[in-house]
Amino acid sequence: MSSWKEGQINLQSDTQTRPTPRMREVIAAADVGDEQYGHDPSVNQLCQETAELLGKEAAVFLPSGTMCNEIALLVHCRPGDEIYAHRTAHILISEAGGPAALAGVQVYPIDGPRGQYSAEALQAGIQPQSRYTPTARLVLVEQTSNGGGGTVWPLELVRQVADTAREKGLHLHMDGARLMNAVVASGTSAEEFSAPFDSVWLDFTKGLGCPIGAVLAGSADFIHEAWKWKQRIGGAMRQAGMMAAACSYALRHHVDRLAEDHENARRFAAIVSQCDGLQLDPEPVETNLVFLDIAGTGLAAGEVRARLEAESINISEPAPTRLRVCTHLDVSREQVETAAHAFVNIVNDLR
Ligand SMILES: *Cc1c(COP(=O)(O)O)cnc(C)c1O
Repeated sequence: MSSWKEGQINLQSDTQTRPTPRMREVIAAADVGDEQYGHDPSVNQLCQETAELLGKEAAVFLPSGTMCNEIALLVHCRPGDEIYAHRTAHILISEAGGPAALAGVQVYPIDGPRGQYSAEALQAGIQPQSRYTPTARLVLVEQTSNGGGGTVWPLELVRQVADTAREKGLHLHMDGARLMNAVVASGTSAEEFSAPFDSVWLDFTKGLGCPIGAVLAGSADFIHEAWKWKQRIGGAMRQAGMMAAACSYALRHHVDRLAEDHENARRFAAIVSQCDGLQLDPEPVETNLVFLDIAGTGLAAGEVRARLEAESINISEPAPTRLRVCTHLDVSREQVETAAHAFVNIVNDLR
């Protein structure tokens, strides 16, 4: 189950983190005002800091990453347009059909290994434009790729894909839910990764450990239009500085430590890879997500997950033979090792 109990090891998602005691103090002490009027100093500060971090003119605070994606499409696109994203992209599989329901766009899925696609694959997906075709409008890159296994799009690949998009006159949008994991893992700065994109956002509720919030950045004109959508769909808030202060705190204190999560994910992978028939997919583990293909063990992912749950260890089960383990600031090295050994024992026992 998802609520925390004493001694529970929750590796289900990095969204499971609870605010740390220090973060709770920052939340309680936050300077606030009416966000909708532009009067909340903590929100304004967070937007400025994030815009600078991403090398963009302006930014807007939103309740979730999903709203960042959907508002970006509403600003960039018109109904009947086509956008391009990897087949595993969050926007395609986990936003309840939002692109179709809200912006009225269709998502053309591009294939490629590790949740990434090449400039050639993108090029091949974009039809020569005519009266018959949907209007090609936007290319989306998810950094890191969640469904691809927490993989980092290398800067060179991002640039090649962006060049192809520009040649075709398309907009570029980055889903940066875990951009800071990519930054810490690769040493490439957030600004460099973001440079080719018209819009980019960061989620504060994943590895950064905040309770609420994401920030969408772009040009001043883009953010002006994004604000209209925020207002229109009821995303404008009031004393949201309590949440924004936690996000600013996380930018200062929870970014560098993502390296520990990556190290813990690799540690988990190293221990469980002793099991016969178990495949890390993908391998190697690059950030904080570990995907395990257990088809070769003859076991069902559900059985293994349920047995772990009985020992107060939570992981997720994205497919019948696939399991996902996600490390974050609320699980220690020791707990990760405990969970990995329990995993090995359960698999050996069930066989
Ligand atoms: C979690 C996630 C989102 C959505 O973010 P929320 O804040 O949960 O709405 C979007 N894209 C990716 C890649 C994600 O992992």
